[in-house]
Amino acid sequence: MAIVNCPNCDKKVSSQHSVCPHCKVALTELSEEDRKHLQLERWKDQVYRATNFSYLALTALIVGALWWWMAGAGGWVMPPPIPAFVLIAMGAVGYLVGRGWLLWLRIGRGRPDRRKGSRF
Ligand SMILES: [Zn+2]
Repeated sequence: MAIVNCPNCDKKVSSQHSVCPHCKVALTELSEEDRKHLQLERWKDQVYRATNFSYLALTALIVGALWWWMAGAGGWVMPPPIPAFVLIAMGAVGYLVGRGWLLWLRIGRGRPDRRKGSRF
């Protein structure tokens, strides 16, 4: 018995299972082609989420910067209002995390269809 990753949800599954207990995908009926397709779909989904996350963080950063600009009499005066500062800080960190996540998806893990061999 071996522990493998489900090609659909990527959770740990015993190789004795014919159906994934997490997402109910039929493991034994999947061809190599189906598995690659599922992995690619999951990868695309993660890239999509990472991209959205980056843009959301960037939006927070911009909103925070505008808030700070409009709160002061002469533009960006020190110290920034606390909520604006929090938005900027969270936006900056979130953006970096999002970009790092994307980089990791593209380089660290590689696209599933370029991966050599199979995890099954
Ligand atoms: Zn699954």
